[in-house]
Amino acid sequence: MSNIENQQNCFNNIRIVLVNTSHPGNIGATARAMKNMGLSHLTLVDPEQFPSPVASGRAVAAVDILERAKVVATLEEAVSDCGLVIGASARVRRIPWPLMSPVETAVKVADESRLNQVALVFGREDSGLTNEELQLCHFHVHIAADENYSSLNLAAAVMVICYEVRMELLRRASLTAPAPVHNDETIVEGVDWDVPKATGQQLENFYTHLEQAMIDLYFHDPENPRLLMMRMRRLFGRIRPDQMEISILRGLLSHVDMLQERAARNISVEQQRQERRAAKKDSDGEI
Ligand code: SAH
Repeated sequence: MSNIENQQNCFNNIRIVLVNTSHPGNIGATARAMKNMGLSHLTLVDPEQFPSPVASGRAVAAVDILERAKVVATLEEAVSDCGLVIGASARVRRIPWPLMSPVETAVKVADESRLNQVALVFGREDSGLTNEELQLCHFHVHIAADENYSSLNLAAAVMVICYEVRMELLRRASLTAPAPVHNDETIVEGVDWDVPKATGQQLENFYTHLEQAMIDLYFHDPENPRLLMMRMRRLFGRIRPDQMEISILRGLLSHVDMLQERAARNISVEQQRQERRAAKKDSDGEI
């Protein structure tokens, strides 16, 4: 694939997600900013008014983006197939989480959009993103605006981030030199790393499994959860496991489940293995 085609692929793998937007004008202005910067996938989570003539009016020649916009009920749904999710936050350290500048964000997005679906998430005009929504993001990005008034208009914030992403992708497309020589410490996504990151849905399934296993082990008390799951999400969000690694962890948790079952029924490993083999044979036979 040529550099240009490669970058086109990247543009295609990036989506802008607007959460619970109240003013349709901001949705239209976002579509326009996206089209100006070469992005075309817009996902709207529970918008207050959409479709709307106000949105179409503000989009001007970017109505095609509005026409193709996906509308979903929750942020979880919007990012279920994404390997990288970055949430834009007007407030720094609302919850302590890995934080990047727009330029760092652009580099990460350019790296990972070669192989993964990437979501850039923006919050409500009045209250931004909730803590739960911020926890669905691997990273947060903050635009260092003036501290006396650091909250940008929603579409203006989208523009700043999309502009930086575009600059980084164009910079890479114009590089005609062969790929730089890299060592173990400079892993290039999509080149040295060929397993895609776990998607939002795979991570959610993993967290559900992990939480249940911790409850079964009496390690986690759902009556007194404290911040355990938030910390677990932050830990795995920082590690960013790939799909193979998540499947190993799920396998490990399944063995914890098996251990529980053995203890509860007081059976041996061999007995359990035999039962499982027989059950598998039965279910294979059904097909
Ligand atoms: N009053 C809200 C800000 C909402 S602005 C609050 O205090 O959280 C709407 C959205 O635009 C924000 O949720 C965020 O996604 C984006 N945004 C606005 N200003 C930003 C900034 N300085 N850095 C990063 N994102 C910003």
